[in-house]
Amino acid sequence: MRATTLLNNLLGIKRTRVVGLFFDEDGLVIDVRPTTRVAWCSCCGRRVREIHDARERYWRHLDLGGMKWHLRYRLRRVRCARCGVTVEMVPWAQPGSWFTDAFETTVAYLAQSAAKTVVAEMMRIAWATVGSIVARVVGRHRGEDLLDGLTFIGIDELSYRKHHEYVTVVIDHRRGRVVWAAPGKNADTLRRFFAELGPERCAKLLGVTIDMSGAYIAAVTEAAPRARLTFDRFHVQRLAHDALDQVRRAEVRALEDPEDRRALKNTRFALQKNPWNLTAIESGKLADVQRTNAPIYRAYLLKETLAAILDRRQPNVARRMLDDWIGWAAHSRLAPFAKLARTIRAHLEGIIAYVATGLSNGRTEGLNGKARTITRRSYGLHSASSLIAMLFLCCSGLTLRPAHAVPSFH
Ligand SMILES: [Zn+2]
Repeated sequence: MRATTLLNNLLGIKRTRVVGLFFDEDGLVIDVRPTTRVAWCSCCGRRVREIHDARERYWRHLDLGGMKWHLRYRLRRVRCARCGVTVEMVPWAQPGSWFTDAFETTVAYLAQSAAKTVVAEMMRIAWATVGSIVARVVGRHRGEDLLDGLTFIGIDELSYRKHHEYVTVVIDHRRGRVVWAAPGKNADTLRRFFAELGPERCAKLLGVTIDMSGAYIAAVTEAAPRARLTFDRFHVQRLAHDALDQVRRAEVRALEDPEDRRALKNTRFALQKNPWNLTAIESGKLADVQRTNAPIYRAYLLKETLAAILDRRQPNVARRMLDDWIGWAAHSRLAPFAKLARTIRAHLEGIIAYVATGLSNGRTEGLNGKARTITRRSYGLHSASSLIAMLFLCCSGLTLRPAHAVPSFH
């Protein structure tokens, strides 16, 4: 078998022919050529006749036996009637990328589940390069319009760079995936989403889940007046968790004895966890709190009861229970819960709507958790665009396969 036939098979790229090879200090370099000599514009895909000039270029391909492979080709610049001077299209790579498609797909596939540092080390590329490759792969694998067919959506914000920067994320509740994301977290950010969605698709929105902070409420009501505003139970419960934490911290501060302080400080996880998930030690801590600190225990019961109410599926039952809860919290002599009671009263209809729409939150919960993990994993990401590309890579239902080649015998 001739070396070039062998290499053609190992390369496994369609419409590409190996014409030579050599080794350099970095690994194996193979000279390749598209099988047709006709040039195509990489911008519009049309055939072009006029060649402007040509320049030698290298593309990184998947390693072979642990050794780096580069493809070398004199890339032609062409004069396209529609686009002006552009580069020609090549079968092995995207315009503007110095990596083959197979290499990029493999990087993106790995980045779906491994930390970026692992991907960077394994593929021997710069850490920032992982981000730009992910952005390109996400761009070219997105066949359908994610904004089609939306009826129930969720709007959330994710913080990154240690909570200094925000990205607004729109989730399709029905399909359980991220469909839109942009930097920022105010009403104007969200108006851009509705502008992209357009009036026709806006009119089809039946329900929107958002948090009770109010930044997004105006944008939703003006763009989709028919959609029912729903306040996500996570946001409601998160506020209850925060209120409980405030009560606990105030009680810790009020204690004189350092020993007592430490004991109370250590109750945080026992208090925040669901009671059925407590370990024996945590249950013991909770019992101690019940015995020794009435305010914290009251706050704990308020938090747990609220969660139980949000589990209900009958709107009327939930409404009655929430009314009771608001009265209880308002008179609990716990300032953070009195405040939460006012917030819940002001947004009651949206909370009842959550119970009524019966949105299965399991998937969304999982999606939220996943999005937050990615944000944490990408902590060093310094741009919103890399974070957004990662969100689409991991949370928009994109299925990638590693680029495996098989021999072809002809
Ligand atoms: Zn063109």
